[in-house]
Amino acid sequence: MRTQRQVVDYSLQKRALLRDVHNGKIGTLEVCDASPYLKNAARFHGEPTDERCPVCRRDNLTLVHYIYGDELKQSAGQARKLAELPVLAMTLREFQVFVVEVCQSCAWNHLIEQYLLGRDALNADELETGAAAVAASASGRHRETGSSSHRREGRQ
Ligand SMILES: [Zn+2]
Repeated sequence: MRTQRQVVDYSLQKRALLRDVHNGKIGTLEVCDASPYLKNAARFHGEPTDERCPVCRRDNLTLVHYIYGDELKQSAGQARKLAELPVLAMTLREFQVFVVEVCQSCAWNHLIEQYLLGRDALNADELETGAAAVAASASGRHRETGSSSHRREGRQ
Protein backbone atom coordinates (compact mmCIF):
# COMPACT_ATOMS: atom_id res chain seq x y z
CA MET A 1 0.00 0.00 0.00
CA ARG A 2 1.35 3.39 -0.95
CA THR A 3 0.92 5.11 2.40
CA GLN A 4 2.32 2.23 4.49
CA ARG A 5 5.12 3.39 6.82
CA GLN A 6 7.05 2.65 10.00
CA VAL A 7 6.77 -1.03 9.22
CA VAL A 8 7.86 -3.36 12.02
CA ASP A 9 8.49 -6.93 10.95
CA TYR A 10 8.14 -9.67 13.57
CA SER A 11 9.31 -12.59 11.45
CA LEU A 12 12.53 -13.00 13.47
CA GLN A 13 10.61 -13.35 16.73
CA LYS A 14 8.22 -15.76 15.04
CA ARG A 15 11.06 -17.90 13.72
CA ALA A 16 12.73 -17.99 17.16
CA LEU A 17 9.46 -19.02 18.79
CA LEU A 18 8.79 -21.71 16.20
CA ARG A 19 12.31 -23.06 16.69
CA ASP A 20 11.56 -23.47 20.40
CA VAL A 21 8.26 -25.14 19.60
CA HIS A 22 9.85 -27.56 17.15
CA ASN A 23 12.64 -28.56 19.54
CA GLY A 24 10.18 -29.00 22.38
CA LYS A 25 11.24 -26.08 24.60
CA ILE A 26 7.77 -24.59 24.32
CA GLY A 27 4.59 -26.63 24.22
CA THR A 28 2.20 -26.16 21.31
CA LEU A 29 -0.61 -25.40 23.76
CA GLU A 30 1.27 -22.25 24.79
CA VAL A 31 1.46 -20.90 21.25
CA CYS A 32 -1.78 -22.30 19.83
CA ASP A 33 -3.95 -20.14 22.04
CA ALA A 34 -5.97 -17.98 19.64
CA SER A 35 -8.96 -16.58 21.51
CA PRO A 36 -12.51 -17.18 20.23
CA TYR A 37 -12.50 -13.48 19.19
CA LEU A 38 -9.38 -13.89 17.13
CA LYS A 39 -10.72 -17.06 15.49
CA ASN A 40 -13.97 -15.29 14.67
CA ALA A 41 -12.06 -12.33 13.26
CA ALA A 42 -10.09 -14.76 11.09
CA ARG A 43 -13.28 -16.38 9.86
CA PHE A 44 -15.17 -13.17 9.06
CA HIS A 45 -12.49 -10.59 8.26
CA GLY A 46 -9.42 -12.68 7.56
CA GLU A 47 -7.30 -12.72 4.47
CA PRO A 48 -6.61 -16.29 3.31
CA THR A 49 -3.02 -17.16 2.40
CA ASP A 50 -1.29 -20.05 0.63
CA GLU A 51 1.02 -20.53 3.58
CA ARG A 52 0.63 -23.71 5.63
CA CYS A 53 0.40 -23.45 9.39
CA PRO A 54 3.98 -23.91 10.69
CA VAL A 55 2.73 -25.86 13.72
CA CYS A 56 0.05 -28.32 12.59
CA ARG A 57 0.48 -28.16 8.76
CA ARG A 58 -3.23 -29.03 8.46
CA ASP A 59 -4.60 -25.66 7.40
CA ASN A 60 -3.49 -22.52 5.60
CA LEU A 61 -2.84 -19.42 7.66
CA THR A 62 -5.28 -16.54 7.72
CA LEU A 63 -4.13 -12.94 8.22
CA VAL A 64 -6.18 -10.69 10.49
CA HIS A 65 -5.71 -6.90 10.31
CA TYR A 66 -6.46 -5.00 13.52
CA ILE A 67 -6.70 -1.23 13.42
CA TYR A 68 -5.92 1.22 16.22
CA GLY A 69 -5.91 5.01 16.43
CA ASP A 70 -7.67 7.97 18.07
CA GLU A 71 -9.47 8.91 14.85
CA LEU A 72 -11.15 5.51 14.68
CA LYS A 73 -13.07 6.17 17.90
CA GLN A 74 -15.27 3.14 18.66
CA SER A 75 -13.83 1.22 15.69
CA ALA A 76 -10.39 1.15 17.32
CA GLY A 77 -9.23 -2.36 18.01
CA GLN A 78 -11.53 -3.92 15.43
CA ALA A 79 -10.50 -6.37 12.76
CA ARG A 80 -10.97 -5.14 9.20
CA LYS A 81 -10.81 -6.78 5.82
CA LEU A 82 -7.63 -5.98 3.92
CA ALA A 83 -9.71 -4.36 1.14
CA GLU A 84 -11.12 -1.83 3.60
CA LEU A 85 -7.70 -0.50 4.60
CA PRO A 86 -6.95 1.63 1.50
CA VAL A 87 -10.32 3.35 1.91
CA LEU A 88 -9.59 4.14 5.55
CA ALA A 89 -6.08 5.29 4.59
CA MET A 90 -7.59 7.90 2.28
CA THR A 91 -10.02 9.24 4.85
CA LEU A 92 -7.98 9.13 8.07
CA ARG A 93 -4.83 11.04 8.92
CA GLU A 94 -3.10 8.17 10.69
CA PHE A 95 -3.87 4.80 12.20
CA GLN A 96 -1.95 1.72 13.26
CA VAL A 97 -2.40 -1.70 11.67
CA PHE A 98 -1.42 -4.94 13.42
CA VAL A 99 -1.29 -8.04 11.25
CA VAL A 100 -1.76 -11.35 13.06
CA GLU A 101 -1.52 -14.76 11.41
CA VAL A 102 -3.93 -17.38 12.66
CA CYS A 103 -4.39 -21.08 12.02
CA GLN A 104 -8.08 -21.87 12.28
CA SER A 105 -7.26 -25.53 12.73
CA CYS A 106 -4.84 -25.57 15.71
CA ALA A 107 -5.23 -21.94 16.91
CA TRP A 108 -1.59 -21.02 16.32
CA ASN A 109 -1.33 -17.22 16.20
CA HIS A 110 1.46 -14.68 16.01
CA LEU A 111 1.86 -10.98 15.36
CA ILE A 112 3.77 -10.79 12.10
CA GLU A 113 3.82 -7.11 11.21
CA GLN A 114 2.68 -3.66 12.26
CA TYR A 115 2.62 -0.41 10.31
CA LEU A 116 1.01 3.00 10.06
CA LEU A 117 -1.45 4.01 7.38
CA GLY A 118 -3.19 7.28 6.60
CA ARG A 119 -3.17 10.48 4.61
CA ASP A 120 -0.23 11.82 6.64
CA ALA A 121 1.98 9.48 4.65
CA LEU A 122 1.50 11.47 1.47
CA ASN A 123 4.84 13.17 2.00
CA ALA A 124 6.19 16.36 0.44
CA ASP A 125 7.74 14.46 -2.48
CA GLU A 126 4.46 12.89 -3.50
CA LEU A 127 2.58 16.14 -3.05
CA GLU A 128 5.16 17.90 -5.25
CA THR A 129 4.90 15.19 -7.88
CA GLY A 130 1.16 15.58 -7.76
CA ALA A 131 1.40 19.36 -8.09
CA ALA A 132 3.84 19.00 -10.99
CA ALA A 133 1.47 16.60 -12.74
CA VAL A 134 -1.40 19.05 -12.33
CA ALA A 135 0.78 21.91 -13.59
CA ALA A 136 1.91 19.84 -16.59
CA SER A 137 -1.61 18.88 -17.58
CA ALA A 138 -2.79 22.46 -17.08
CA SER A 139 -0.05 23.87 -19.30
CA GLY A 140 -0.78 21.11 -21.84
CA ARG A 141 -4.39 22.18 -21.97
CA HIS A 142 -3.29 25.77 -22.28
CA ARG A 143 -1.08 24.98 -25.27
CA GLU A 144 -3.66 22.76 -26.97
CA THR A 145 -6.55 25.14 -27.02
CA GLY A 146 -4.83 28.50 -26.85
CA SER A 147 -8.23 29.84 -25.95
CA SER A 148 -7.68 30.32 -22.25
CA SER A 149 -5.55 33.42 -22.88
CA HIS A 150 -8.37 34.93 -24.90
CA ARG A 151 -10.79 34.22 -22.13
CA ARG A 152 -8.46 35.80 -19.62
CA GLU A 153 -8.13 38.92 -21.78
CA GLY A 154 -11.88 39.08 -22.14
CA ARG A 155 -12.37 39.08 -18.41
CA GLN A 156 -9.90 41.91 -17.76
ZN1 LIG B 1 -2.19 -24.96 12.77
